[in-house]
Amino acid sequence: MPTTTEPTILRGGEWLIQPSEADTVFTPERLTDEHRLIGRTAQEFVDNEILPKLDQLEQKDWALARDLVKRGAGLGLLGVDVPEAYGGLGLDKVTSLVVSEKLARAASFGATFGAHANLTIVPLVLFGSEAQKHKYLPGLLSGDVIGAYALSESGSGSDALGARTKATRQPDGSFLLNGEKMWITNGGFADLFVVFCKVDGDQFTALLVERGFGVKSGKEEHKMGLHGSSTTALILQDVRVPAENVLFEVGKGHKVAFNVLNFARFKLGAMCGGGAIAAIAESAKYSATRRQFGQAISSFGAIKHKIGEMVVRTYAIESLLYRTAGLVDARIAATPHDANDGSAALAAFEEYAVEASIAKVAGSEALNYVLDENIQIHGGNGYVRDYPAERHVRDARVNRIFEGTNEINRLLIPGMLIRRAVKGDLPLISAARALQEELLGPPSMPAAGDGDGVLADERRAIISFKKTALMVFGLAMQTYGAKLIDEQEVLMHLADIAIDVYSAESATLRALAASEQHVPRAALHVDTARVFVNDAALRIDASARQALAAMVDGDTLRTMLAALRRLLKVTPINTVAARRRLADATVERGGYPLA
Ligand SMILES: Cc1cc2nc3c(=O)[nH]c(=O)nc-3n(C[C@H](O)[C@H](O)[C@H](O)COP(=O)(O)OP(=O)(O)OC[C@H]3O[C@@H](n4cnc5c(N)ncnc54)[C@H](O)[C@@H]3O)c2cc1C
Repeated sequence: MPTTTEPTILRGGEWLIQPSEADTVFTPERLTDEHRLIGRTAQEFVDNEILPKLDQLEQKDWALARDLVKRGAGLGLLGVDVPEAYGGLGLDKVTSLVVSEKLARAASFGATFGAHANLTIVPLVLFGSEAQKHKYLPGLLSGDVIGAYALSESGSGSDALGARTKATRQPDGSFLLNGEKMWITNGGFADLFVVFCKVDGDQFTALLVERGFGVKSGKEEHKMGLHGSSTTALILQDVRVPAENVLFEVGKGHKVAFNVLNFARFKLGAMCGGGAIAAIAESAKYSATRRQFGQAISSFGAIKHKIGEMVVRTYAIESLLYRTAGLVDARIAATPHDANDGSAALAAFEEYAVEASIAKVAGSEALNYVLDENIQIHGGNGYVRDYPAERHVRDARVNRIFEGTNEINRLLIPGMLIRRAVKGDLPLISAARALQEELLGPPSMPAAGDGDGVLADERRAIISFKKTALMVFGLAMQTYGAKLIDEQEVLMHLADIAIDVYSAESATLRALAASEQHVPRAALHVDTARVFVNDAALRIDASARQALAAMVDGDTLRTMLAALRRLLKVTPINTVAARRRLADATVERGGYPLA
């Protein structure tokens, strides 16, 4: 028998079934001095070096973009995910998250940086051979070589494996690459590309392709936003790629593409969280100074509602991001591996792929909400270019489209959970069966209001959210079996329920920890989590009702709806008062009050 109890690390998706304790969850309040220091470094870099030059970047000054990447490299920002043996800093994923959050305020540069660091350096670290790492990482890490990731084509975006770019093997083992890639970030000036293609007809493969091998860029796309980031097609005509430039293995490009996306989705969620925090500060400051009817607009209840809700949604995103980063780091630490070997990180990101998709979808949608309300709070000034509010909205819209559209990610969330359940890796089926039996028996749920302690009602509500999720997942699997993949509308509802469960629990556990540790403004943490859980109950109820009615009817539907009512008994709280407290604290502080 072990004498000490190590906290067990939840497996990916296990939160849907298992309860978690507040002290096992990583939160922003647990950041170390080292995390905070690198966060300050990234923030000062953005404030002092990037924001003043945003207009110049938007004029497509790619020499400046290159120079800024080099400056970021000088500060160590490119090496966070790279082991020390290859010239990186070998830091944890929480650090990666902190850096991404801070870069978010300069979205165009964030895209440039992301394509270089997350989509070129990370695949090399995770999948490159020793020789490839030694050849390419030094230049990428110093910023002398700029990277790009070329997966999409005009005919294959979501359906990435349908790529038509082909590589024909030559007698000397090299490849002749032909095709056209589309919408490639850094496409206009990158030096090294991770290009996905089909080798000899059907073997989906990633190749490391230097511009000097013959890559040509198409014209810059005229985009809605991200004007300071290069997006072009890549024209590949008889580009000769040496045999040793296969990244990983011929025919295993899907492994590279999907694993890199797991990581990139998580980081995109982080950028969205950071962008939301920055926009809240703009709204707070503007609403405090803009006067109408003789008073600051921040004194109006309608504005307080918006600011309060911006904080609530941002808090939930932040909470689930830090929780996920903590899980990934804990899993990497618990996996015996050499510090220079990327396989533990690779396995951890595969494990938490559902959570990465949730971070991407929830982050991008929360950010859209926050940025839209930021414009609304700015009124006419929000619609003109003198203020940054309209630029943020244009820049952020693509977050719901790239790194897998939100529809694709919503399909992946229940899809991956169900696949794990069927494989026996996640006890979702037995939990759904146990719930069915519980629902047939006498009521066992304590009514809301029983028991005491901080957030006791919310913790009970989360148990009921999970049971609701299990009920709908169980019925969907029973009703459609293997054909569930064809029932996209039901899958979307399942995804929305899962997103709300993970978000609500992450926010509540963080607020509980804040309260137990008496952190400054702990009462505001509690307000935030309570509002989120209150509204999540309404959303989960709506999704569950629609999904149930799509699957059953008549008496069966009536029975299921009765069970749903029994499960989801969440007493409404006074969200008006809570949002007012949050808004007042935000305006008083001039920004996000829970940082
Ligand atoms: C600014 C910008 C930068 C980009 N940078 C890069 C980059 O660096 N590298 C790169 O490789 N790509 C990049 N992309 C491409 C991006 O990843 C794709 O645009 C994205 O994957 C969507 O593909 P698509 O545009 O072909 O849309 P489509 O796949 O045609 O999708 C159109 C609509 O149909 C939906 N849809 C598609 N398939 C399904 C399905 N099976 N079920 C339900 N709905 C479905 C989608 O969700 C979407 O709503 C970038 C795009 C932009 C705009």
